[in-house]
Amino acid sequence: MPGRMLIVDDQRGVRRLLEELFKKEGWDVQCAGDGREAIEKVENLMPDLDLILMDLKMPNVNGLEATRIITEKKSPPIIMMTAYGEIEVIQQALDAGATKCISKPFDIMALRDMVNKLMLEIAS
Ligand SMILES: [Mg+2]
Repeated sequence: MPGRMLIVDDQRGVRRLLEELFKKEGWDVQCAGDGREAIEKVENLMPDLDLILMDLKMPNVNGLEATRIITEKKSPPIIMMTAYGEIEVIQQALDAGATKCISKPFDIMALRDMVNKLMLEIAS
């Protein structure tokens, strides 16, 4: 049973694509265009927020900063979408508080599978 997801990406096309995919999967989807907006939305949506998909590279407040701020309080798991698969970038994302990372460009089905697996892990 999917819940409510927040999709954070500065690229409108990416937001649209992911929104469409996860709505079809039964998720209640909310979107934010940068880290600042994401922090605001999390404040408004918690505790009824089950997952965040967070882009790393964004203007204003990037994904790392937003993740650090969001995870200072009670936060749903965060999957960070990194532009590079480099170990240091992944480590930075995990250090900031991300639960998992996926490298862009990704196959959206791989992201869907990662989301489903993570939700199963949390539920069990
Ligand atoms: Mg970006």
